[in-house]
Amino acid sequence: MKKHNFSAGPAILPAPVLKEAAKAVANYQGIDLSLLELSHRGPEFTAVIEEANALMTEILSLPPEYKVLWLTGGASTQFFMAPMNLLNEDETAVYTDTGTWANKAIKEAKGFGKVEILASSKDQNYNFIPKGYKIPKEAKYLHLTSNNTIFGTQLHKFPKSPVPIVCDMSSDFLSRPVDVSPFGLIYAGAQKNLGPAGTTVVIVREDILGTVKRFMPAMLDYRTFIKENSLYNTPPVFPIYVSMLTLRWLKKQGGLKAIQRKNKTKAALLYTEIDANPLFKGTVAKEDRSLMNICYVMEEKYAALEKEFLAETEANGMVGLQGHRSVGGFRASTYNAMQKSSVQALVDLMQDFARRKG
Ligand SMILES: *Cc1c(COP(=O)(O)O)cnc(C)c1O
Repeated sequence: MKKHNFSAGPAILPAPVLKEAAKAVANYQGIDLSLLELSHRGPEFTAVIEEANALMTEILSLPPEYKVLWLTGGASTQFFMAPMNLLNEDETAVYTDTGTWANKAIKEAKGFGKVEILASSKDQNYNFIPKGYKIPKEAKYLHLTSNNTIFGTQLHKFPKSPVPIVCDMSSDFLSRPVDVSPFGLIYAGAQKNLGPAGTTVVIVREDILGTVKRFMPAMLDYRTFIKENSLYNTPPVFPIYVSMLTLRWLKKQGGLKAIQRKNKTKAALLYTEIDANPLFKGTVAKEDRSLMNICYVMEEKYAALEKEFLAETEANGMVGLQGHRSVGGFRASTYNAMQKSSVQALVDLMQDFARRKG
């Protein structure tokens, strides 16, 4: 039986997607060639990327001014590629500092223009999402991280912004419906909720581009990829193919509304147990709890049992539950592809552990 994979990323993918991808690697659609051997400009891969774009557009209900791009370099490349494409040296971008990834995005943006931090939860070890800050209308854009993978907080409501929002959605991309209209640019590394590591999806509203004065290398200019339909150079064909399969799967699940319902059910199951179980406690403000990365620790009184509990999860076929070193404890990532039965198995173990050790 497959293990219950709670890893934060690279993360769980739907079982039918993995099966289909394995088949395509061995022999793509019975043509006696592997998908990995095909020209990225041939008819087979052209059909793949066109379907991926069409599915993304449909699932997110993207208006025509939004373009879907398949890039490389991870979300970490977007930390500098976004400001490089959007921000002149004498202009200001505003950021919120809600975690490790947001912090990295801030550091990189400073190399390209002025950066103002509107709000930060750093002094509380990022255990909540700051709200109620004022967004200056002179700013070029507002950068947000929709889900803080390491700390387990999530923006459940985006602030009303007078300027376009640039958003790192890596770890909750396609986990819920979003109205894209406030966003100028959305980016997400595939390996959290979409596909294998190796491609980064960028969704960009075309009219926000073209205002920067610096020299832009072709590979770092979004307009290159818009013009060439993500095929300026050889794209990461396998990650794009698997992402396309996941999009097909997501559509079959009923799309974003349906997957959000499932994600809420899974998260509620685990958070309810964390709150009820005398051995465990959550680490972040309840209203900001992430539905994707559920962080918790042991009550101080039982802290010595943490290693033992983790060993028991492994012995019971659960992997990836060790919390990030900056939080400690446990982190259960419950992305789209995770079944409720896996979360139930974890909850059952927590209850059993409490009966034996409490
Ligand atoms: C994982 C992650 C990143 C880094 O992604 P890479 O693809 O490894 O560069 C950035 N932001 C968030 C929110 C993440 O979860």
